[in-house]
Amino acid sequence: MTFRIPLSAPDITKAEISAVTAVLRTPHLSLGPELAAFEQALAAFHNVPHAVAVSSGTAGLHLALLTLGIGEGDEVIVPSFAFVAVANAVAYVRATPVFAEIDPATLNLSPGSVEQAITPRTRAILAVHTFGVPADMDALTSIARRHNLALIEDACEAIGAELGDPPHARRAGSFGDLAVFGFYPNKQLTAGEGGAVLARNPAHAARLRSLRNQGREPGAGWLDHTEIGYNYRLSELACALGRVQLSRIDEILTLRRAVAERYYALLCDIPGMELSPLLLPRRTISWFVYVVRLPERADRDRVQSTLAASGIATGRYFPPIHLQPAWRNHPSAAASLPLTESIARRTLALPFFNRIHPGQQQQVAAALRAAVTAAD
Ligand SMILES: *Cc1c(COP(=O)(O)O)cnc(C)c1O
Repeated sequence: MTFRIPLSAPDITKAEISAVTAVLRTPHLSLGPELAAFEQALAAFHNVPHAVAVSSGTAGLHLALLTLGIGEGDEVIVPSFAFVAVANAVAYVRATPVFAEIDPATLNLSPGSVEQAITPRTRAILAVHTFGVPADMDALTSIARRHNLALIEDACEAIGAELGDPPHARRAGSFGDLAVFGFYPNKQLTAGEGGAVLARNPAHAARLRSLRNQGREPGAGWLDHTEIGYNYRLSELACALGRVQLSRIDEILTLRRAVAERYYALLCDIPGMELSPLLLPRRTISWFVYVVRLPERADRDRVQSTLAASGIATGRYFPPIHLQPAWRNHPSAAASLPLTESIARRTLALPFFNRIHPGQQQQVAAALRAAVTAAD
């Protein structure tokens, strides 16, 4: 189905097109200078020593877990209100995801619920910065330290988000042992496909580089494989695209903030509707999607199909992972997650992209208002 107003749209300028075509005029289409430059720019932007680009955010999560030695018999605490890759990556390494509850204000892992989920088998916390809102990294870091757990950030939805009071604010991705980013076309920064893992420890960075490249240690010969690795490389074309997008990140995040502010103004008077707050204490949001929580009385799926009938795309961000057909029969799915379930039932993501026209936002708001009021 194609929509008159899509849910997301990439923002590609002449600068991206010339950077990608310039790569095509060179003999380096993989493992070349664009990879090195993109990684250096990502590390510098986050003020962390190492960035390792990979083929997707999911690949990044997989390698992060492998790099930390997480495997069979280990438990990793994750949110269920998240993209399914978060739990799938834990399954790839034969560890067990343990789903914890979210904080209704930030939709991120609730530190209290994380603490309750810890068992002698827990090895790591995988904290997602959901919808570009930084998770409570101070509390999660202190829990991880106290229980000797690794802390992985899934910052796939949060590039450029900040946590902390200036001048000590830090970007999402600079708190954990490792942090993962994703560059699919619906993200704030896209490389077409792609991802990256940030690391502080040089041994972690070396392991990530080996694992993404068929287990070749950095500097090793093309047919020398120290361990079983993967092909999770990112092409020079993607790195060139990602690098231009990163150079535009301030502009991109400013445009997205303006889109969020317009939605807020258009929708804030609908009774019973809960909007994503524009401001949260100690946080700078990097707007990934604009999600509303529909009034209890509204039937979310009906609202979605009403909008679809007028050409407006919306998204059910996120159906809880533990209720997905792929997961609901897994022992992890037995977790009691009433907040996750009640919030997920009511959430709807609206069309949200850098260049959405204010007139399109007005159409979305009018259609949503009508669909919700029809439920009265
Ligand atoms: C987008 C996303 C990913 C990674 O997705 P890929 O499509 O594999 O790049 C991982 N986690 C979260 C929370 C995401 O939103």
